[in-house]
Amino acid sequence: MDKVSVRVGGGVLELVRGDITQQATEAIVNAANPSLMGGGGVDGAIHRAGGPAILEECKQIAKTLPGRRLPPGQAVLTTGGNLPARYVIHTVGPVWRGGQEGEDEVLASAYRSSLSLAKEKGLRSVAFPSISTGAYGFPVERAARIALRTLLEFLRQHPGTFDVVRMVLWSPQDFETYRQALEELTG
Ligand code: ADP
Repeated sequence: MDKVSVRVGGGVLELVRGDITQQATEAIVNAANPSLMGGGGVDGAIHRAGGPAILEECKQIAKTLPGRRLPPGQAVLTTGGNLPARYVIHTVGPVWRGGQEGEDEVLASAYRSSLSLAKEKGLRSVAFPSISTGAYGFPVERAARIALRTLLEFLRQHPGTFDVVRMVLWSPQDFETYRQALEELTG
């Protein structure tokens, strides 16, 4: 089964296997680089599928940031361009450096900042990729627990805010890892 969901805070937390660029939630989240200038993985896929309007807006936003960089753990919002989603929330996860350099907290902050921004904009559905577990090297079991704990906590603390918060897992292994983590967290 490639879809799992739990009800929480008046909404649904879902895990699905699939492609983040295909999600028809109001916003999708990009695992961006601090430069906001695009990259590989999720970032490349989103810019390819969404077209140049997203990068244009990223460039404008980058100009307003100190050092033209978005600090890890923070999030900004752009148009979704040609994507099914109306908006893209760009957040920067931590690069894995062994786990003793605040990586857990920065990862939680990336999820929390993205949901806060969606909430501020009144968006009711958001889809996330598995932030930091690709090029940034964060171990996926540990990332899954942090991601899901953070999403569950936010949904419980802000009941009625979201209809759907979705984790979109690219590989069957990652889907299974997240499924097990969700089971452990929710019983
Ligand atoms: P990071 O740089 O934050 O590690 P990556 O984009 O390298 O981000 O990878 C994050 C995760 O997203 C990885 O598990 C990767 O397999 C997955 N991924 C890659 N492309 C897609 C996509 N189109 N949709 C959903 N997940 C994807």
